[in-house]
Amino acid sequence: MFLHGTSRINKNGHLEIGGVDTVEIVEQFGTPVYVYDIALIRERARGFKETFDRLGINAQVAYASKAFSTVAMVQLVDQEGLSLDVVSGGELYTALAADFPVERIHFHGNNKSLEELEMAIEHQIGCIVVDNFYELELLTSVCEMKQAKAKILLRVTPGIEAHTHDYILTGQEDSKFGFDLQNGQAASAVKMALESNHLDLLGLHCHIGSQIFDTTGFILAARKIFTKLNEWKNEFGFESTVLNLGGGFGIRYTKEDDPIAPSQYVEEIIKEVKAQANAFSMTVPEIWIEPGRSLVGDAGTTLYKIGSRKDVPNVRKYLAVDGGMSDNIRPALYEAKYEAILANRPLDEVEETVSIAGKCCESGDMLIWDLPLPKAENNDILAVFCTGAYGYSMANNYNRIPRPPVVFVENGLAHLVVRRETFEDIVRFDLSLSQKVNN
Ligand SMILES: *Cc1c(COP(=O)(O)O)cnc(C)c1O
Repeated sequence: MFLHGTSRINKNGHLEIGGVDTVEIVEQFGTPVYVYDIALIRERARGFKETFDRLGINAQVAYASKAFSTVAMVQLVDQEGLSLDVVSGGELYTALAADFPVERIHFHGNNKSLEELEMAIEHQIGCIVVDNFYELELLTSVCEMKQAKAKILLRVTPGIEAHTHDYILTGQEDSKFGFDLQNGQAASAVKMALESNHLDLLGLHCHIGSQIFDTTGFILAARKIFTKLNEWKNEFGFESTVLNLGGGFGIRYTKEDDPIAPSQYVEEIIKEVKAQANAFSMTVPEIWIEPGRSLVGDAGTTLYKIGSRKDVPNVRKYLAVDGGMSDNIRPALYEAKYEAILANRPLDEVEETVSIAGKCCESGDMLIWDLPLPKAENNDILAVFCTGAYGYSMANNYNRIPRPPVVFVENGLAHLVVRRETFEDIVRFDLSLSQKVNN
């Protein structure tokens, strides 16, 4: 059994997280429930940030809030002194509602709307990561209208795709994001940005993938970008003050995953960026990174109650829980793998292999295939680990299932930060057939 962060088996023989017994969490908040180990989030945040500080590199570590965005989470990110990435008006609104310092907010996305750009400019956020030519023009016109100057990065696609253990080199990347670095698009965008009175071009951004376990992809991307920066220094006299290498740092979902520590990612990235800057006689730029999953993923655990069972003799044993693809769509969407234990009796002997089904009316609603477990019974608590990233943030109301609450645990205290949805919430936006709406 691999336990993350502060998770341990307590003297009652129960799974405990953040000093709080999960059986008590279930009694207090019901199931399903997302539980976050706050000490572990802080540890990860410091692993990234303090490495830059220790090595004397100007940096911003921006939490990619799409992984898990709520007011309390954004406040925690602020407590740890990180920056914040948002990718929509809704995530920006969440950041503003949490009073997050606007100068540390960065706005991403491949199709930001006029309203979203206006909102970003009105609130004077720290940086807009411009994705395409349409956005360059739209943002310029918003700035003209509002007599503002926007700090921007240009998102480029360096022709490197990184996934877990391998990376793929492509001449031109087939991606919906960013300006192609190789075919001249990125150079035109740099030129346009430099010529604009309304744009302050800080530098370049790239994001090469997710669940990446080493730094090879980041290093190759940095090299490709520096080669171009050198050309643009000569051509346009442009020097990048910021190099943003994105996120995608991997976590351990199952025993097949073996990520390196945050400090190691940062050390190796710094080493390469310094070497490249020196090779081209450039000032070492500020390095920005954008971890999402690696800050919150393994800090999240979902607790479910076991319900029905179906044995298909000689084929499979299905155990159903009281949630599923409505609170964790990743197994259905990406065949994502998870580990789980019985939280109320984790030390009982393993007796059978079961597959964990959700309660949604969809055959694909399976959470885990072939999980070794003690003989589980109705009302046992199943703890599924590593659900902190892209779990709650992708939760939905399929089958009109209310979304679960979110509980932060730290130092023996449990703190409700998102309440459970009710059936009233489910019909809150519905209008009856006879109702007339003035809108
Ligand atoms: C999604 C995303 C991230 C975070 O990715 P993780 O795999 O969660 O670390 C960072 N930057 C950008 C631009 C992204 O789109």
